[in-house]
Amino acid sequence: LKPGGRDEEEDAPRGPRRPIVTAPKRGTPVAPAKKIGDGNRRAGRIDVQAAIAGEDEKTRSLASVRRQRERERRQAELEKLRSDGVKVVREVVLPETITVQELANRMAAPGRDVVRALMKMGVMVTITQVIDADTAELVVQEFGHKVRRVSDSDVELGLAGEADSDEELQARPPVVTIMGHVDHGKTSLLDALRHTDVAAREAGGITQHIGAYQVTLPSGQAITFLDTPGHEAFTAMRARGAASTDIVVLVVAADDGVMPQTIEAIKHAKAANVPIIVAINKIDRPGADANRVRNELLQYEIVTESMGGETIDVEVSALKKTNLDKLEEAILLQAEVLELRANPERSAEGAVIESRLDKGRGPVATVLVQKGTLRQGEIVVAGAQWGRIRAMINDKGAQLKEALPSLPVEILGLSGAPTAGEPFVVVENEQRAREITEYRAAKLRERQVAAQTALRGTMEEMLARIQAGAQKEVAVVVKADVQGSAEAIGVVLGKLGNEEVRVRVIYSGVGQITESDVQLAKASDGLIIAFNVRANVQARELSQREAVDIRYYSIIYEVSDDIEKLVKGKLSPVHREKFLGYAEIRQVFNITKTGKVAGCYITEGVVKRGCGVRLLRDNVVIHQGELSQLKRFKDDVKEVARGYECGLSFAGYQDLREGDVVECYETEIVAP
Ligand code: GDP
Ligand code: MG
Repeated sequence: LKPGGRDEEEDAPRGPRRPIVTAPKRGTPVAPAKKIGDGNRRAGRIDVQAAIAGEDEKTRSLASVRRQRERERRQAELEKLRSDGVKVVREVVLPETITVQELANRMAAPGRDVVRALMKMGVMVTITQVIDADTAELVVQEFGHKVRRVSDSDVELGLAGEADSDEELQARPPVVTIMGHVDHGKTSLLDALRHTDVAAREAGGITQHIGAYQVTLPSGQAITFLDTPGHEAFTAMRARGAASTDIVVLVVAADDGVMPQTIEAIKHAKAANVPIIVAINKIDRPGADANRVRNELLQYEIVTESMGGETIDVEVSALKKTNLDKLEEAILLQAEVLELRANPERSAEGAVIESRLDKGRGPVATVLVQKGTLRQGEIVVAGAQWGRIRAMINDKGAQLKEALPSLPVEILGLSGAPTAGEPFVVVENEQRAREITEYRAAKLRERQVAAQTALRGTMEEMLARIQAGAQKEVAVVVKADVQGSAEAIGVVLGKLGNEEVRVRVIYSGVGQITESDVQLAKASDGLIIAFNVRANVQARELSQREAVDIRYYSIIYEVSDDIEKLVKGKLSPVHREKFLGYAEIRQVFNITKTGKVAGCYITEGVVKRGCGVRLLRDNVVIHQGELSQLKRFKDDVKEVARGYECGLSFAGYQDLREGDVVECYETEIVAP
């Protein structure tokens, strides 16, 4: 039984009710009030409070009888008005919570009248406050309108259409993302491949650049290429649920070999479980050495066919347009192995590739159709935006009436620019589109509030899931100060895990934690292990926003202890470090007696006398110890807060430099 389901047939008299104001889950606070179950319609809801308190039946019915009278009286009045043809009866859609203002808007009534009506019912609210659907329903009835209840969970129900049967599925073109190190020739290769398109040649050239395009080969087969600007974008899209890429083409310049971003691309592709095809580019160059590239790739577990492995590799030159047909063949071969299929005979679903606000045309989104056929005039919901498709344009600038699976198109007519990576779906009417987007917008606000007020502590959540047997894998990103530590941690973690739960290191690297690491962890529902390194500001903010747990360590066995406990579904350690604050070293003084004193500015939190400190240089820990002195001007002080300057020195450590950051912490004991 679904409480508050969408049910239009329910205009029968209601049981006794009483207005309720509840604070939205995490929204604007409203005075708390008791919640009483509605005996009639919402029978599925068991009201504990009412059951325990044995709610006074008499008072309740008295109040409700009075309201009932009042309602009847108004109803009669309204009936009269209506028969005079003055009053319009509206169908008011009510979500689970609504602001008074929005409720007024939906009834086309002045806000103050709504507030007054609520006051009469004993509910004291302002126009901006949120009331629940039960209360709102009473108000709507008072105003003589009809109610249609929409429950949270109902809104998204049935949005993603039914699963397709085997017979309905037809082959679709592969969707390919090109990745690789900067200057290895990604853009050149994309351009060169684009010129192999027979359709483009027929259409008289390429007219515009959009983030995705489809190439039709002389054989009539097609390949879709996505032009993601960075590896983060690829993973960010995946984190949002848009697994849009079937195949990754890894571009490696034959004269340069495997470089940092090559490795990053490999880790992103592997984390996404997407097969890789290696394009060894720039073979026209004098220093080109394709075999060196193949050899270097071995280190990252990419074994090409000539090395006895499974990964297809093709030597190409984007500049000279050499072997582009071979690369395309390789892509089609890989696609065949993957058996890529979709049902074109259904309403469309897909993903937003990119979007922007165009001065003349309004919001423009490039979308990739993944299922079904998208048609001009249809109503789509993309993330928290919606609209009727006014026009559909392909990568050759041609207007389309319909788009089949794997085709990227620009769509015009959305209410705003949706976020890249959001899924899109066609819905039956505007009403539905509005419901969904309103619901999503509310959810989004809710999530933002939640992220600000309480960090969810992914590790605790993970622990709960492991204990419940719902999680079988702990995915971790390891970042360390030196390669040796990263490797050591990798080895230690590899030994953990048991039959029930496995530990998977999705990436391990050296240096500060960046947004890319957070995205990667987020996409795999994993956590980040920071060994003697810190997150940069952007990464820290992102991790908070996305609730990705970053665990800081400086002793290897603590890493293994923590993760082992996690794997075994046990509780976290008893001693836990509590972050206090950051101080930036602005100046270093050499004082004869005391040695080096750092003139600092507290950028975050507080610094306390005698607290534990770590000295960070470029977000890497170079020293750990204790504070020996904390001064404001000439005086010793207990504590200095953010926004103030102070002088501090370290116990037994002198290598302080301008620009270094001092991280302060204390150790607290947490009850298990
Ligand atoms: P991206 O940063 O990976 O997108 O690389 P670009 O496509 O911008 O290429 C970087 C540079 O390499 C440009 O100057 C290209 O002209 C050059 N380049 C790309 N492909 C080739 C190739 O196959 N051969 C040679 N000789 N140069 C190439
Ligand atoms: Mg480029």
